[in-house]
Amino acid sequence: MQEKFDTLKSKLVQIQNVNVSSALLNWDQQVYMPPGGAAARAEQIATLDKIAHEMFTTDEIGELLSELSDADFDVNSDEACLIRVARRDYDKARKLSPELVTEMSRTFSLGQRIWEQAREAKSFAQFREILTKIVDLNIQKAEAFGYEDCIYDSLLDEYEPDMKTVDLNRVFDQLKAGLVPLVRAIADQDKRVDASCLQQDFDETVQWDFGIVALKAIGFDFERGRQDRSVHPFTTSFSIHDVRVTTRIFKDMFSSGFFGTLHEGGHALYEQNVSPELEGTLLASGTSLGVHESQSRLWENVVGRSRPFWQYYYRQLQDFFPGQLQAVSLNEFFRAINKVQPSFIRVEADEVTYNLHIFVRFELEQALVSQKLKVADLPDAWNAKMDEYLGLTPTDDTLGVLQDVHWSSGLIGYFPTYALGNVLSLQFYNQSLKDIPELPEQFARGEFGPLLEWFKEKIHRHGRKFTANELVERLTGSPSIEAAPYLNYIQRKFSEIYDL
Ligand code: ZN
Repeated sequence: MQEKFDTLKSKLVQIQNVNVSSALLNWDQQVYMPPGGAAARAEQIATLDKIAHEMFTTDEIGELLSELSDADFDVNSDEACLIRVARRDYDKARKLSPELVTEMSRTFSLGQRIWEQAREAKSFAQFREILTKIVDLNIQKAEAFGYEDCIYDSLLDEYEPDMKTVDLNRVFDQLKAGLVPLVRAIADQDKRVDASCLQQDFDETVQWDFGIVALKAIGFDFERGRQDRSVHPFTTSFSIHDVRVTTRIFKDMFSSGFFGTLHEGGHALYEQNVSPELEGTLLASGTSLGVHESQSRLWENVVGRSRPFWQYYYRQLQDFFPGQLQAVSLNEFFRAINKVQPSFIRVEADEVTYNLHIFVRFELEQALVSQKLKVADLPDAWNAKMDEYLGLTPTDDTLGVLQDVHWSSGLIGYFPTYALGNVLSLQFYNQSLKDIPELPEQFARGEFGPLLEWFKEKIHRHGRKFTANELVERLTGSPSIEAAPYLNYIQRKFSEIYDL
């Protein structure tokens, strides 16, 4: 059996090498590639993705997986988990034709460039044709995978394995019941927080340098990673020893660059700390996007927007920006970075209104793939949902339907994992606090190692060995994902800030 396992593993590693090469081309496309390279790059990525798909879906891999299905490995061993995850991925991949894989890959790569151009031109019309094709390809993919209750389940499963739309609705209903009245209560106290100190002239190079200080402080290893700039911040991993983050920096918006950097740093910590034993295999990555997002939102918000974090770092930040912040007290700054205000852009949203942006996209995506909503009608539908949830109407499509990169690169079914990540971040963090009650005092001394070590041990090192639900159960003892810990945290924090 061991020999068969070794054969399977070495084949999977080769396939992973092709996948990683494709991911590297994608990283380059978003970071360095000149605009003229878009068409050729789409073909290059499509070719690699087709090769990887062909290598993976052979009968030989299927036979190896079948023969290994009754192998005598311990159920939680790396071997058994790799076989289980490979079986799952294999069964799904076999349902997709090579033609569909190639067409998706090409279209999703081209889509990004067309979206960037449409955004620049503030023209949804320029994006409509390719987006129609992207939605159609997603429907084809969902049909190929198959589903029981609703087509959206099939797409969601790509990003949040085994999660169903009905499960999401249960958690999201809990969130809505807590958040919507809170947003209203805060709106009545709107004047209590002034965030104008964050909208001064902050030199971009100095912002970058301070971001690096923070990345190092939380444990990002620059020997095994790097940071670059891109239109939309993201994290990608080519090996646990080569994890890349990107950020974007605006002169007059300190929060955007800094918290974006911490956010991607949180994703990177997960990828850098997967066990070396899993390197090169299908298991060497985060287990689901919701769990991934729990890590990024943890460092961005639970740690990065906490008072103890700034008790340590605010003096340093003042040294980086004396002209801008010398006269601003720690308390004013802490309140400014936590100002709640319904706004157009999801990635700039505060912790309270953030999830409302997710509900907008989640509902629109379901309408699109169940063909109740046409792409041509999407901008109007978007604006109506923004009005419903946030009481705002975007003045142009870059503040509305054109703001996010996801749909342009084919990612439909992905957005709800962001809200799920918020919820999970608190289920996990509360548990870490039970084990290490002095965490806040440690943050106030600039010590983040104990928190990182806890997450390394409990989550990071396992990679994809356990699903999101399994991790929740293993860590918290709770059999399900629940919004209550997150809502309690939000209510406590913002009741204090807004004196509710
Ligand atoms: Zn993220």
